[in-house]
Amino acid sequence: MSGTREKPVIVTAAITGSVASSTENPNLPITPAEIADAAVEAAEAGAAIVHIHVREADGTPSAHAELYEEVFDSIRSRSGVLICATTGSGAGRFSEEERLAALSLAPDIASLDAGSMNFGERVFQNPPELLRRLARDMGARGILPELECFDVGMVSNALRLAEEGLLPVTGRWWFQFCLGVRGGAPARAGVILAMRDLLPHGAEWSVLGVGRAQLPVALIAMAEGGHVRTGLEDNAYFRKGEHARSNAQLVRRIAGIAGDLGRGIASVPEARELLGIAPRAVAA
Ligand code: ZN
Repeated sequence: MSGTREKPVIVTAAITGSVASSTENPNLPITPAEIADAAVEAAEAGAAIVHIHVREADGTPSAHAELYEEVFDSIRSRSGVLICATTGSGAGRFSEEERLAALSLAPDIASLDAGSMNFGERVFQNPPELLRRLARDMGARGILPELECFDVGMVSNALRLAEEGLLPVTGRWWFQFCLGVRGGAPARAGVILAMRDLLPHGAEWSVLGVGRAQLPVALIAMAEGGHVRTGLEDNAYFRKGEHARSNAQLVRRIAGIAGDLGRGIASVPEARELLGIAPRAVAA
């Protein structure tokens, strides 16, 4: 076990998402400038990856490539943090074309939701042909897919893509277990370990838990050699009755615990090495 304990924790900060609202937490970043600033602050606090959604001025989820470009350019001008773009559905608003909008902007990583599910009162549709399309598109562009699994069966869906020769697209596996969504797998230790045990040898995996589940699942992941996602997309509160002030505040807490556990957090170069992401070409 000592080998896995020593592996540094890759912390992902999920900056704003598409479901959380300013009503739930007034500190939620909305504009491109707010999202980019929050991402840079989260990176300074220890996040090696920032997971990016964009929003219209009124806070509704957006798929406009110009907004992504503004955010990515602003982050890249100030930070080497790895950028993970969403290909989610914008809470059911986006067409397939819109979901792929950010991939042309060369994010290092992009989410690939590995199956369909009930998501609260909606159906989150990710049919097999979309999964193949996302995997092919990311493969052609050299983008590492983040395989978001909201339930155990989604791990199997990802492995089925591997049987078809569509994964892994960059030679490495990167899974995100997204737990505690109403309609998905509960945020429990047994679920995390069952999902982890299905992974291919050498796969890296991370866990997020929505709401109050976040800290317990982060602790389990860190104790078992996994990685952690936190951020205002998943957690409006820092503790009961107290809004999280920022993404950076949530990242700092995870970084402190990772240090106490003797793992520490992964720098961007360490995260690149663990995930097999080549350094970004330097613009002239
Ligand atoms: Zn997201």
